[in-house]
Amino acid sequence: MRRNPVALLLLAAAAAVSAQTDDRTAMLQGIDAKRESYAATAKQIWAFAEVGYQETKSSALLQQQLRAAGFQVTAGVAGIPTAFVATAGSGKPIIGIVGEFDALPGLSQEAQTAMRHAIEENAPGHGCGHNLLGTGALAAAVAVKEWLASGHSGTLRYYGTPAEEGGSGKVYMVQAGLFKDVDAIVSWHPGDRNDASPTSSTANITGKFRFHGIAAHAAAAPERGRSALDAVEAMDNMVNMMREHVPQETRIHYIITRGGAAPNVVPDFAEAYYYARQPNMKILDGIWERIVNAGKGAALGTGTTMDLEVTGAVYNVLPNEYLSGVMNANLERVGGFAYTAEEIRFAQDLQKTLTDPPDVAIGSQEKVRPMRTGAVMSASTDLADVSWNVPTVSMTGATFVPGVPAHSWQATACAGGTIGVKGMMVAAKSMALTTVDLFTDPAHIQKAKAELDAKRGPGFVYRTRLADRKPALDYRK
Ligand SMILES: [Zn+2]
Repeated sequence: MRRNPVALLLLAAAAAVSAQTDDRTAMLQGIDAKRESYAATAKQIWAFAEVGYQETKSSALLQQQLRAAGFQVTAGVAGIPTAFVATAGSGKPIIGIVGEFDALPGLSQEAQTAMRHAIEENAPGHGCGHNLLGTGALAAAVAVKEWLASGHSGTLRYYGTPAEEGGSGKVYMVQAGLFKDVDAIVSWHPGDRNDASPTSSTANITGKFRFHGIAAHAAAAPERGRSALDAVEAMDNMVNMMREHVPQETRIHYIITRGGAAPNVVPDFAEAYYYARQPNMKILDGIWERIVNAGKGAALGTGTTMDLEVTGAVYNVLPNEYLSGVMNANLERVGGFAYTAEEIRFAQDLQKTLTDPPDVAIGSQEKVRPMRTGAVMSASTDLADVSWNVPTVSMTGATFVPGVPAHSWQATACAGGTIGVKGMMVAAKSMALTTVDLFTDPAHIQKAKAELDAKRGPGFVYRTRLADRKPALDYRK
């Protein structure tokens, strides 16, 4: 009996597709099987709540879990004690999964509690959900490593990247050449929706303006003093007037970190900590120069001196639309999740604490947002510097109750609870599937690289605004 060759080919193709479906389904089941362990890891890092460059325990825990899963770990890379790279497999391609784990100052908050209640007053908290970010990335990496070991080739890396919040940790890791040979990077970020849209961000420069004056008795001999606090106030005033004369999408914010010791002593030292952000790095350069000039002018006018430490600088994210399409398909396959009755009550109570009525409804976490292009978020991330060097894709998982903004106590409450874990699992599975896609079909990497080259344009040279400074390891001290 003669078989039809076309039918045979179709049979073989169908068998290959179903084998692929099977080993991916098995991989997702493997992630689910370890769910409790990942939930415990996320909760531990949430409880450690360590701020930028001080994430000793959080980094060690992730390293230990990666070692246990068979990864080779190199710790203390790029001159940063808490930065590490974990590797599994060998040969090309090389795909990286990025994990973060730093907390934010002042955002300590009880988990899944719908009223402001710090565990410890003024202590740090995971108000950006980086406990979930690092753990979700761990879950994806362990799953892909097991998939690689079942007869596939390529190198997988987990990048443990500290101090995302204003410390520019990844910038130093880029500078140290740790991303030089990677073909693509996969990551995610906690948020209030499931969304894989290619999204840009603002470039950001941060720095501490330190003013030095002359101390004197504020009542008996004020004429002999020169107030460093006057200089800070003069600078802030000038920058606040400048807001009217910068492009709309610009963001400038500051805090006064030191303003003197006592009202009856003319302050001989004061410090303002500034952030400036803009979707365009070149426009931001000009704005930052004007801010620095305001600082110099303030010093001149108050008879003080000023020195500036640039503590952080990141690019705007260069989204890869092609890779976002690949990730979006996987996110749609994974889908969203439902809340339990208890979670719905918590979500409703938490929404009541928000200043504005939420623009996203409870229940939206069950769905995936339709992919759209051209979005720019006003926040910044050091993943941006990776994205100008390597094709990079990231997504958002619905870890926060709809309407809850990042960097809030409400976000800390979600990041330590069951909703956070559910959103993390969506991201872990979508990242694992996307990474497996990149290992399986070389065309994905080719197309992603072509897009990166086209977007950077001819002659693009990556140049961080941090110049050759060392990581600001004590910027949170
Ligand atoms: Zn974040």
